[in-house]
Amino acid sequence: MDTIIQMRFLVAAFFLCANAAHAQNYGATEVPDVGRNPEWVIAIHGGAGGTEPADLATEKAEQTRKDLQASLAAGARILESGGTGTEAIEAALKVLEDSPHFNAGRGAVLDEYGVARHDSSIMRGEDLAAGAIAGSSRIRNPIAAARAVMEQTQNVMLHGEGADWFASQNGLEVVNPLYFITEERRNQLLEKRAKEPGTVADAGDSYFGTVGAVVLDKHGNLSAGTTTGGRANKRFGRIGDTPVIGAGTYASNTSCAVSGTGHGEYFMRWTVARGICARMEFNDESLKDAAEALIVDSLLPVGGYGAVIAMDPSGKVVFVSTTANLKRGVMSSSTPARFAINADNEVN
Ligand code: ASP
Repeated sequence: MDTIIQMRFLVAAFFLCANAAHAQNYGATEVPDVGRNPEWVIAIHGGAGGTEPADLATEKAEQTRKDLQASLAAGARILESGGTGTEAIEAALKVLEDSPHFNAGRGAVLDEYGVARHDSSIMRGEDLAAGAIAGSSRIRNPIAAARAVMEQTQNVMLHGEGADWFASQNGLEVVNPLYFITEERRNQLLEKRAKEPGTVADAGDSYFGTVGAVVLDKHGNLSAGTTTGGRANKRFGRIGDTPVIGAGTYASNTSCAVSGTGHGEYFMRWTVARGICARMEFNDESLKDAAEALIVDSLLPVGGYGAVIAMDPSGKVVFVSTTANLKRGVMSSSTPARFAINADNEVN
């Protein structure tokens, strides 16, 4: 075999092994019951990884469940009283951003210099209005800033100091960057640095605890929103899929609403969120088929792992994950709050 063929063989073998490992963990698809013609529906996620089976009985897992429940309750209160989907998303994601158990807000992962830098976006399906912030290190609740960008400016995305400045000028809470840092995240970074000295997280494992929500409100509008600290030990300046409309977040009343979590570079290259909605719009595919086409058929074979939560205009929800650890929850006007933190539990 000449060297090039040998190398190709090795690369293919590597991906097959990597994919076999992920496929084993493939957490499959769930289509939870949301009742017939619900007036409103909210589905949330808290990332697709980071939980070892041994962690499931811990106090942290218990707290994670409580946080998911509180997040659903916060969104549901707004939806029940006739509030908009984007108001509900802000309320639901703030709960998860304030919790130290997710990769968003306090407890977010740290970049290569030990700083938590947030990406966040929100989108309204009624008129395709969208707002996002990227690389922010001072905004306490990034989802609130993303919504403010959508509502108060003609822009779609603000980044870094510009985003922090905009938030402070718009009355949002800005904090000392130390607020976000937890001991667990500091240790995680130190471990990663010790294991792979001098490298950044270009590929390989990461802690997925990104938070996101998709909503159908009483006005018949779909919305989606997502916040993340990105990837542990990420390169200074690296921005993932989360603030990129069409990659990590998308909503259109004519097709669907999507919030993703996973290996952001793949979500951007495959324009996952918009891809799902486009398949529904142009190919007439069901929500489930379209979401599986992107996550299982397109991303998994190339080593791009992660999950999406998605909703169609009738309020039907799907959770599709390539890992066994998608933290997720759902509630509607006619079904109670249900949530789960790995593939052993179901929200059906
Ligand atoms: N998608 C995020 C990113 O790549 C990470 C995650 O979802 O955990 O920035």
